[in-house]
Amino acid sequence: MKISEPDNDVYRTLLESTRAIPWKIDWPTASFEYVGPQIEQLLGWKQDSWVTVNDWAERMHPEDRAWVVDFCVKQSQSGIDHEADYRALSASGEYVWIRDVVHVERNEAGEPLALIGFMFDISERKKTEEKLLVMQKQLEDYSFRDGLTGVSNRRKFDAVLDEEWTLARRNTQPLSLILIDIDFFKQYNDHHGHVQGDECLKAVATALGTVANRPRDLLARYGGEEFVLVLPATDEAAAQRVSERVRQALFKAQIPHGASAVGQLLTVSQGVGTIIPSSTDTLVPFLDAVDRRLYRAKQGGRDRSVAGAA
Ligand code: GH3
Ligand code: MG
Ligand code: MG
Repeated sequence: MKISEPDNDVYRTLLESTRAIPWKIDWPTASFEYVGPQIEQLLGWKQDSWVTVNDWAERMHPEDRAWVVDFCVKQSQSGIDHEADYRALSASGEYVWIRDVVHVERNEAGEPLALIGFMFDISERKKTEEKLLVMQKQLEDYSFRDGLTGVSNRRKFDAVLDEEWTLARRNTQPLSLILIDIDFFKQYNDHHGHVQGDECLKAVATALGTVANRPRDLLARYGGEEFVLVLPATDEAAAQRVSERVRQALFKAQIPHGASAVGQLLTVSQGVGTIIPSSTDTLVPFLDAVDRRLYRAKQGGRDRSVAGAA
């Protein structure tokens, strides 16, 4: 059996029934020689309204136009096959994500004669990509969040403190830190049970969430029953006021503690530190100094805060 060459009609049927939209541009005149009829279904513009490359460039999102046109012209002049993703404007005023895949036809001297390409509708793929990006952000957010209380976790604290330390040093601004440790929490668990202990940690986190509200302030769960507040651009006096608000917020929360030597309610002890980091200062000694103050608050009878020099 002889296999015959497909005639033009076969090619045309093939080209015009695929979802990819074929087109051809004559390079010297910068005008369309052909565009598939599917273009009208996709973008709404009539097939015969695609006359010059300007029709193509003008029906493009303004943010994409400059780089896409520039890129495609450069590649074509160099005789390089290429592809570009951009938002094409539809007749109804909406944008459709397109991938244009372009082959450059050249003469013997290597000069472009014509561009032949396919436009693909990639809007579904773009939507999926955008969804993936949102999910990635969510995952990142989860990885910085404490599972029990919902506040930032130690990882986030470490990252933020590092950043704020650098900023404070660069801007010669005070950076304050408050370490907060629940008093007699072991006894709380022993008395009320571990499940209630978890509930209590959530309640403490909620209460602490109300005390520092500037955009760069950070509340994090530092360890089991320890929380920390990072207070950028906050001097010693202001940090002490925040520390007082911590006490007030906990008092307001009225969390009963059935086995505390301090009283009937759950209390915390706090270590407060402030530093304008110099180029020779490092984080760890500062953290240690704040931790020592927390220890002194415990030693001093709990339900209090110790600030001042290390
Ligand atoms: P102090 O007043 O000196 O701070 O005494 P404390 O009992 O609070 O301190 P300690 O560090 O000895 O005990 C902390 C307790 O916190 C021990 C542990 O059982 C409890 N804890 C730590 N993480 C969790 C948690 O996620 N859930 C619960 N329910 N308890 C926790
Ligand atoms: Mg502790
Ligand atoms: Mg404790």
